[in-house]
Amino acid sequence: VIQAGARGAFLGLDIGGTLSKLIVIDPGTADARSPACKRVVDFVTAHQRFGLTGKRDEHLALELGDGAVIHLLRFHTRRMPGALALARSQLETCEGVKGAGLTVDCTGGGSRKFAGAFAREASLTLRAHDELECLVGGLIALLRASPDDEAFALGSGGERMGRDLSGSSAFPFIVANVGSGVSIVLVESPDRWRRVSGTPIGGGTFFGLVNLITGLTSFSEMLSAAAKGDHTAVNLTVGDIYGDSEGVYGLRPDHIAANFGKPLAARRMPGDRAEPATSRRECGSDGAAAEADSATPPRVRSGSFHSDGRFHARTEDVCRAALVMVTDQVAQAAVMSAKHHGVRRVLFAGSFLRHGSSGGVPQERLSWAIDAWSGGEAEAIFLKREGYYGALGALLASGD
Ligand code: ADP
Repeated sequence: VIQAGARGAFLGLDIGGTLSKLIVIDPGTADARSPACKRVVDFVTAHQRFGLTGKRDEHLALELGDGAVIHLLRFHTRRMPGALALARSQLETCEGVKGAGLTVDCTGGGSRKFAGAFAREASLTLRAHDELECLVGGLIALLRASPDDEAFALGSGGERMGRDLSGSSAFPFIVANVGSGVSIVLVESPDRWRRVSGTPIGGGTFFGLVNLITGLTSFSEMLSAAAKGDHTAVNLTVGDIYGDSEGVYGLRPDHIAANFGKPLAARRMPGDRAEPATSRRECGSDGAAAEADSATPPRVRSGSFHSDGRFHARTEDVCRAALVMVTDQVAQAAVMSAKHHGVRRVLFAGSFLRHGSSGGVPQERLSWAIDAWSGGEAEAIFLKREGYYGALGALLASGD
């Protein structure tokens, strides 16, 4: 299904807002490898880490038969100067590249932003391709190349249930691509697709909020912390407002009423104790209610206030609350699109859902949300090579 592109292309690059993803196809046989291809394949397979943030995802490599292999690598886009220096050092002495340069098929916003730097720093020409076209093209190619293990749903116990989406019965489906931001794409057939929705509350929001609040700097650390957290220490629930045994409007007590709403509802601001009149004023003329209110401890499970009036919650709880907020927002946008277009499958792509570091927390929440909010009409489907479809699509588009 997948072959190296026309003109001997073997590289596909997706330069995103946060991460750059690189696909290298080794055609397998010595005759099919150009000198540049051999140099790059030898280099990437000899290492697993590159510079400060580069990594080859060895467990995601895909054998295509006859010795051909797809290799997948990623690095932080902010480290592009280092990546270009590395590319130059590997390629400047390479036969067939020296002087003539090399063309790399590329997608993502960076395919335009970095075109000048690639030419200047590494004598590489970027051939830009449409981002969503590459996402859809790469995804469909991998669903077909790896029908047994590319796509799966989660069972009620969290177990993976394979979904073969290699045939035409897979269509239509929704793809929610959760990267720095989120795009929602309706795919009706390999040639018929369009962006139908999106939200700017995505993986970048999760990282940014958690960094600002907790000071954590690593995505993996944030997700490991989230796996141990309790979001109700930070989120205000329906039960917090109506009482723990009460639901309302079909919402259970553990439904979130306000993301990150606990601090305001717990309402112990500086001076509250010293000035009970404040809470009396807030409660209108009902003095009794105000007295009861000031005597009742705030409904906080584990967050609490510091003396300066700042609400304090454990890092784990903040991470979990941010994760839940982003996944719920994505699920809601995806469910609305699925319902609106009468689609039963919602496929989640993008590096936010990287399985290795996530411990499956976002996947479990998305599975639950898609099922619950679609009334059992839609199913959440996850993808093994989450963030890499655009890069593969760029490589495949090289023959266009
Ligand atoms: P983009 O193309 O916009 O960069 P991606 O699909 O690559 O989008 O996803 C980027 C998101 O993936 C980040 O915002 C973050 O939530 C998450 N992510 C996954 N791995 C990492 C990592 N190692 N470092 C930072 N963010 C990561």
